[in-house]
Amino acid sequence: MTYALVLNSGSSSIKFQVLDPTADANDEPLVSGLVEQIGEPQGSITIKIRGEKYSVQEPIADHSVGLERSFQIMTEHGVGPHDVDISAVGHRVVHGGKVFSEPELINDQVVEMIRDIIPLAPLHNPANVDGIVVAREILPDIPHVAVFDTGFFADMPPAAALYAINAKVAGENGVRRYGFHGTSHEFISQQVPALLGKDPKSVNQIVLHLGNGASCSAVQGGHAIDTSMGMTPLAGLVMGTRCGDIDPGIIFHLYRTAGLSIDEIDTLLNRQSGIKGMSGVNDFRELRQMIEDGDTDAWSAYNIYIHQLRRYIGSYMIALGRVDAITFTAGVGENAKFVREDAMADLEMYGIKIDPERNDLPNDGPREISTDDSAVKVFVVPTNEELAIAQKATALAKK
Ligand code: AMP
Repeated sequence: MTYALVLNSGSSSIKFQVLDPTADANDEPLVSGLVEQIGEPQGSITIKIRGEKYSVQEPIADHSVGLERSFQIMTEHGVGPHDVDISAVGHRVVHGGKVFSEPELINDQVVEMIRDIIPLAPLHNPANVDGIVVAREILPDIPHVAVFDTGFFADMPPAAALYAINAKVAGENGVRRYGFHGTSHEFISQQVPALLGKDPKSVNQIVLHLGNGASCSAVQGGHAIDTSMGMTPLAGLVMGTRCGDIDPGIIFHLYRTAGLSIDEIDTLLNRQSGIKGMSGVNDFRELRQMIEDGDTDAWSAYNIYIHQLRRYIGSYMIALGRVDAITFTAGVGENAKFVREDAMADLEMYGIKIDPERNDLPNDGPREISTDDSAVKVFVVPTNEELAIAQKATALAKK
């Protein structure tokens, strides 16, 4: 059997999987690992191999040490990168800028081009580049492929992709809507036509990727025509810790009147806002419990979340004109039935009717949750970004 290694490198963490690119979305990968607290006095590596967990706590100086040490642990259990046949290494890269719309076979020049995009994604791309450099050093004989989070949205119509700000300033500084979570939106939207029994070219659909980060997209005939995240992943829906859409004037106000620095505002809006900033927790299981216990902040946060989600659903229904399907995915979308119920409530006049019993079914694969007579079909489809990256990387490595 041939496998793919998928790497997602953050500033102080590396997530990885070794998986069969032909597996189903719900199948367990052969190996999944998480290296955390890289560069801190105490780091940790947790690796799950065939369902069995192995953990070590030790200082991890940098990404190179984190990856080498993980491979060592995998080798001790017979699943190191030289024990199993790895045909491609897929790297999740957050920002592809205007340059990359498709997955790219990595060479030195591609690494430099991803480096050039760093000003557009200063929080993400540097770590993605680190991961690529280190992995190519350790595994020089395997093709490495970059898969971009922005790729699926690269050909959005200008009316959706451009902002109504000064065109010269926007053009000179790469200010436009890039969109993120593209791998997931593409992976999900490609499965929906088969669930509908329709030709993909004829399908109009809305994908709701509701996880800790959240975004939605409008997809027409397989092409994204709009998405909620913007130049950065801060825009759009209310998220676990991010604010989503706000009046940009708030930033001036916080700077001029509240005396916060730009970095403080950045942290506030990215890490201390959203559900967490309003309720104190960012996990929907805890939020639900707080609401049941009568916590008014949790209730208010939840209502703001649902209101914003419904705003986007409504606007994408109009943008698409006709909608065949609305699909929920990611941690919240797949598991929080109350979110699905409230997001879809009272929309019968728009042809959307949820079946409460179907909505109650456990999360074990793609399923319909609308009634048989619902004109717009509503689905839950589990996402698996690692599998999608593995598939893309393997396909490109074969060429
Ligand atoms: P993701 O970023 O896609 O991994 O989603 C993570 C989020 O999904 C968590 O922060 C929770 O808010 C939510 N989540 C995961 N499992 C459940 C569950 N069983 N019920 C409700 N929400 C869940």
